[in-house]
Amino acid sequence: MAQHINTKCVQAGYQPKNGEPRVPPIVQSTTYKYDSSAEMGKLFNLEATGYFYTRLQNPTNDYVAAKIAELEGGVGAMLTSSGQAASFYSIFNIAAAGDHIVSSAAIYGGTFNLFNVTMKKLGIDFTFINPDSSEEEIQAAIRPNTKAVFGETLSNPSLQVLDIERFAGVAHKNGIPLIVDNTFPTPVNLRPFEYGADIVIHSTTKYMDGHATSVGGAIVDGGSFDWAQNDKFPGLTTPDDSYHGLTYTESFGKAAYITKAVTQLMRDLGSIPSPHNAFLLNIGLETLFLRVERHCQNALAVAQYLEKHDKIAWVNYPALPGGKYYGLAQKYMPNGTSGVVCFGVKGGRDAAVQFMDSLRLAAVVTHVADSRTCVLHPASTTHRQLTDEQLAAGGIGVDLVRLSVGIEYVGDIIADIEQALGQV
Ligand SMILES: *Cc1c(COP(=O)(O)O)cnc(C)c1O
Repeated sequence: MAQHINTKCVQAGYQPKNGEPRVPPIVQSTTYKYDSSAEMGKLFNLEATGYFYTRLQNPTNDYVAAKIAELEGGVGAMLTSSGQAASFYSIFNIAAAGDHIVSSAAIYGGTFNLFNVTMKKLGIDFTFINPDSSEEEIQAAIRPNTKAVFGETLSNPSLQVLDIERFAGVAHKNGIPLIVDNTFPTPVNLRPFEYGADIVIHSTTKYMDGHATSVGGAIVDGGSFDWAQNDKFPGLTTPDDSYHGLTYTESFGKAAYITKAVTQLMRDLGSIPSPHNAFLLNIGLETLFLRVERHCQNALAVAQYLEKHDKIAWVNYPALPGGKYYGLAQKYMPNGTSGVVCFGVKGGRDAAVQFMDSLRLAAVVTHVADSRTCVLHPASTTHRQLTDEQLAAGGIGVDLVRLSVGIEYVGDIIADIEQALGQV
């Protein structure tokens, strides 16, 4: 029987056998012992599955990756040591120097820098388009050497909702996959594979961990994209000399993409999480459903409060009726969007800073999406490298305040906002 996502949050990924630990154990070991060189050799040839070195695979990490794959409805997942590593690998797994990627401009500032500065230095070119682009506009950005389309399902911090079906449709017409960052909605609120996305990535640092203890990321393979339909993905469809001429699509079928990410990119680049961090992530995941539900209830109440306040210039919360993304939010995230609410305080940048510095319960931190309410002014912190034009393209006004509503008692959160607005 198909289980509800709440049950999967608690139990998926690890089923102990008779007498084994009830809780996924922390296998804090870099290496694994074998009885003969021949047996270990098979592992190195990818002819047998098994653990040999934690840079490639570790049981604790794999339990947690399997849970995230089940939550998203994918065929496999890989944990990374950060969301940044997940973003990088998700593209580098199928693109090389001379290739091109079309990305939504409404993406996390760190992802934008990774794409626009660091990956460009590797020879991979990016075109950034408005997430509201029509099919024709998306198509116009695609070139013969374009290898993927990328976007955030609910953008950080601008809270723009990606029309996944539209982006997936255009990508597929061109024989390329849609990769989405689903960090903000989490699979509790949105499972992008159900709408045509092919690869899903996460910064697990946010709601999945949920307690601000561990930086981490994940890549999930939906298993549905046909990499062999054209010759755009030679890394997956032609022999890999580093594994004696093995071809990923032939040897691993639906799991070709994620297997290559583990056996090639993780082997060579090595951004693995520590098993201890994976253990903490799993504890976070166990309560993901409960927390996300409460984050969304609290955030909606806060958004409704702010909307009526005369010192507030505007509120963006996609679950709030009347907003630009309300329709798309209802379609893709009918149970809630996230705990993040963006708004402008009347008086612009100075008023925003005065408001934030007056908060007592909500802390000013460079973080988002954990259990404690926190607040940030992107234009002067996370996104300060961006020009005003780049900020505008990313949907971020200079007056934008990003409030990450926690799971405290909502009356206390609103009382804190009320007293801080009183100081403005
Ligand atoms: C935070 C974040 C990232 C980067 O993740 P790290 O874990 O901080 O490396 C990527 N995408 C989104 C949407 C994020 O919020």
